[in-house]
This record gives sequence, structure tokens and C-alpha cells, in this order.
Amino acid sequence: MDNTFTPTKKSPGIEAFITTLAGESRHTAAAERRCVAPPIGCGKPVTEFRDERSRQEYRISGLCQACQDLLFGE
Ligand SMILES: [Zn+2]
Repeated sequence: MDNTFTPTKKSPGIEAFITTLAGESRHTAAAERRCVAPPIGCGKPVTEFRDERSRQEYRISGLCQACQDLLFGE
């Protein structure tokens, strides 16, 4: 009857798409010292990181400090 809410089902297609998108924009982002492009990040130039952990996170995810704060709820 109701197939609007199916939280246990994930779409592998969309997951792969997001991973690809994040991976590609991350390369560009790191080269330009920018946050990854929206909708994942904000695409703004990277300024400062609070600590080494945040800097490491940028290398992994390509997210600036502000986006990391949003994402990790700090
Ligand atoms: Zn950002």
C-alpha cells in the first residue's frame, strides 16, 4: 500500500553516483584548495582548519571546516 517509506532499501545506483561525484570534485577541490562542489560541499575556497584532525578530514572528504561542522554536527 505505502511504498513511500522504505528506509531499509538503498539505491546502489545513487550511492555510486554520489561516490563518483565526490571523488571527482575532490580532486579538483584539493588542487584548488576549495571545498568540494555542492550539493556535497559548499565549493568555497578553503581557509583554515580548527585542528589537524579537520585538516586530515579535508584530505579524505574534501570538505572545508564549515561543511565538516555541519556534517558532523559540531
Ligand atoms: Zn565547504
